[in-house]
Amino acid sequence: MNIRENFLKVRQEVPDYVEIVLAAKTRNADEIKEAILAGADVIGENYVQEAERAYKDMGDLAKKVKWHFIGTLQKNKINKALKVFDCIQTIDSLTLAEDINKRAERIDKVISVFIEINIGSEVTKSGVEPEYEAVKNLAAGIAKLRYLKLEGLMTMGPRVGNPEDSRMYFRKAKDIFGRLKSINIPNVDLKYLSMGMSNSYKVAIEEGANMIRLGTIIFGRRACKIR
Ligand SMILES: *Cc1c(COP(=O)(O)O)cnc(C)c1O
Repeated sequence: MNIRENFLKVRQEVPDYVEIVLAAKTRNADEIKEAILAGADVIGENYVQEAERAYKDMGDLAKKVKWHFIGTLQKNKINKALKVFDCIQTIDSLTLAEDINKRAERIDKVISVFIEINIGSEVTKSGVEPEYEAVKNLAAGIAKLRYLKLEGLMTMGPRVGNPEDSRMYFRKAKDIFGRLKSINIPNVDLKYLSMGMSNSYKVAIEEGANMIRLGTIIFGRRACKIR
């Protein structure tokens, strides 16, 4: 199986409304290109520097797709990130949101953002605590920032062997998503629930994900282990 076939197989298998984000960490421009030529249109990157390189190496093709940041964003990388990315999926504090807003204002770019929820309350993971009130408060704060457009929620979920064990976490994220959507915060247009990876995307979709982030199942196993 090659990247093209892998992508087409998953694309065919999941419902049309589900957006696939290619988790491209450690992959080179040729590998990403192959996936794009097969139809992938959202690239997820964990590292700003890696994304800059891939973006440049891909030439015109880079502009045909959306770039989503799915890693931990350091403050000193925000300016660079704003140049490459259309969306930052990992906002977990008002401070980070404000830092991005300030820099986005300088270049007059409105950027799409998601709130990351630490759905398993894991000490090793970033994200807002998985409580509706906490997520709502951050959403209300982001709503006031003119250069950010809150469009989704994202969660990693604990890494588990059996995807069924992720179900309760996905369900919890969907619940928060549904409640937040229903209160209609001005300037917030909650469209995406980004959850599910190679081993868990099927369960995630069953529980309400409309955006999944896939690496291994498309590209094969990574040479070195990065979360
Ligand atoms: C690597 C990564 C994925 C995809 O993981 P796979 O198991 O390779 O599909 C999804 N989301 C984030 C944030 C990642 O870092």
